[in-house]
Amino acid sequence: MSKNNRVGAWYSLRRTLPLWSFEENLKELISKLPEYKVDELIVKVDTEEFSHGQISLDWLKAYQPKLLKVKTEMGKLGIVYSLNPWITHGHRDQGRNAGTQLPGIITVVGADGMECSCCACSLSGVWRRNTVEAWKIYAETKPQVMWVEDDIRTFNHGPVSFGCFCELHMRHFSNLVGQKISREQLVSAITAPGEPHPWRKLFLDMQGQIMINTVSMLAKTVHAVSPETCMGLMSSGPENHCLEGRKWHEFANALADGRPLYSRPPMGNYSESNLRDLSYCPHSIKVTRYCMPEHSIEQTEVENFAFTQYSKSSIITFLQMAISFAYGSPAVTMNLFDHMGTSMELIQSYGKMLADKKPFLNTLAQYMLNEGRFKGVRLLHDEKSSYCKKLPEKACYRELTEDGGSGALAVERLGIANDFNASSVTFAFGQTIRAYPDETIKSMLSKGIFLDAVAAGVLIERGFAGEIGVESIEKPQRLYSIGPFSAEEYFNPKFGGYDKKFMTMLWGRDLNPSVSKIRLMPGTEIISALVDADAQRQNPMFFSFENALGGRVVITVLETTDAAGGFFNPYRLEQFHNIVVWLSRGKPDLLVKPENGAYPMCWRKDCSNYTIAGVFNLSLDPWDKTVFTMEFDRIPRTIKRLNPSGRWSLLNNLTCNLDGGLLRIEYTETVDFHEPLVLMLS
Ligand SMILES: [Zn+2]
Repeated sequence: MSKNNRVGAWYSLRRTLPLWSFEENLKELISKLPEYKVDELIVKVDTEEFSHGQISLDWLKAYQPKLLKVKTEMGKLGIVYSLNPWITHGHRDQGRNAGTQLPGIITVVGADGMECSCCACSLSGVWRRNTVEAWKIYAETKPQVMWVEDDIRTFNHGPVSFGCFCELHMRHFSNLVGQKISREQLVSAITAPGEPHPWRKLFLDMQGQIMINTVSMLAKTVHAVSPETCMGLMSSGPENHCLEGRKWHEFANALADGRPLYSRPPMGNYSESNLRDLSYCPHSIKVTRYCMPEHSIEQTEVENFAFTQYSKSSIITFLQMAISFAYGSPAVTMNLFDHMGTSMELIQSYGKMLADKKPFLNTLAQYMLNEGRFKGVRLLHDEKSSYCKKLPEKACYRELTEDGGSGALAVERLGIANDFNASSVTFAFGQTIRAYPDETIKSMLSKGIFLDAVAAGVLIERGFAGEIGVESIEKPQRLYSIGPFSAEEYFNPKFGGYDKKFMTMLWGRDLNPSVSKIRLMPGTEIISALVDADAQRQNPMFFSFENALGGRVVITVLETTDAAGGFFNPYRLEQFHNIVVWLSRGKPDLLVKPENGAYPMCWRKDCSNYTIAGVFNLSLDPWDKTVFTMEFDRIPRTIKRLNPSGRWSLLNNLTCNLDGGLLRIEYTETVDFHEPLVLMLS
């Protein structure tokens, strides 16, 4: 990625130059990219609306000189040339029929039997031969990075949701088990309720291995022609890749093929809805980073489908870029302009934003890229989640996806710094903890752990009832099927509560969230409870327990996959912050609370000479006071703030207290959504 080994905010624009507007588009790129401060051009080929489906080799051969011309022109400007074929298997059919182009091609067949007309199965010999020849032509242009799209997967090949269960896949599987198996038999075994059927593992292993072989084929093809080219991988969120048995390290190493590997985590939010949805962005960066080999080079994916301000404003586009650099990515890929040949200057605000914001993003990137450690509570992800997930009766294939995602986003939206690496406090949502061995669970239980109802149920199954203070817990069910409850009373003063401090239960699906009935052991302490219409306390809602391993546990009877809407409120933030303080024995890594506002999303990184603590305001209302609470061994000598100009300015008027290793900083200038508040403590 390096251009003169410069460290800063690297901009990579992804752009298509269709045949009919090639010269105009190229001319505009030559004149505008330096103005937009773009460092790298990733040329997309045969893209979106005007894709031919499976690519024609004659068409591509004829297009190749144009790629070489782009590369030459970019070289003159010092802009790196990379390449992004729009498909491998294909994203979606779009009415194309691959069979007319490539007779004998086998297309994807879904778990439900639906068949793609254009998206190809990775076992199809016809597809493999065509793809190898096409990738040779691409590789002859010797791009810096050859990007593999996230259609390198076995789900979301529109119109097919999950598969492949084509004749080739079924033959492969039948050979594995030594008998002829039908798709219906296999799908019903994979999605059987309760303890996973042994065929599930066999199928996930088989699928995972086929995909490893497929990416190896792509990398070997490219490297035979252009050994210096690096491969890049766009992915679709590790929670989803669980259901196709992806083994990340083997998969990534096969694709890297001995060269540095690039990684493009999705930032979601392809079109704009509301600010709080940006909480997905850092989550995706962190969980994808956790899965990839350590030295992978990240270039996040910021995309504004369908490529005008009607889909996404330049402000939201900027915020996604700022999130990328704040959470430690060195580069952003930008899919901002359409692929039909329209001038980039149709949307002038994007180019202007890119240029205007570069100084700010450069400094942010520089300081976040230095050697150091991100800190926060630990969230869980495991690539084996779909292997061990227990499904209910009549489950569909989709339910194999790793759960607990909305719990993780709740932590992100409540001003709690978090990460996927080891920490003294773990937050476990859903069934993911099933994938961890007893020893690891025991170690988590000997520190601080937060469990939702589902995770608590898994630990009881695994024999840890005594360590979490719960005799029994039922599966979550809809609240009003248990009783006519009114609200949650958050009353325990040790955790920041008081009598009649109520939070609504009118949230979740049909305003009827899922909770579990529970029987507690002696020694548990109730933090909040469900109350009836007379405000009488009935069932525990959140409670704490200290176990014989020396660990601290907090459990909610909520199924946090429901967390949305009214779940979030100022008291919820206080409740979660107090829980983190207790679980961490008074040493939280970072909690951020807007005194009069909502949705703080924060991060912390400790480097050798400084600590960065920052926060995004994910609401439209500005905050007039922002409080940072964090474990720190002293009062910082200086605290500086990153200005919009990209310079640090000293803050002299901060209220700053240190009490028992806990630092509290009160920032009283306005913080609004336009840019993050970034503090450097040294
Ligand atoms: Zn297949």
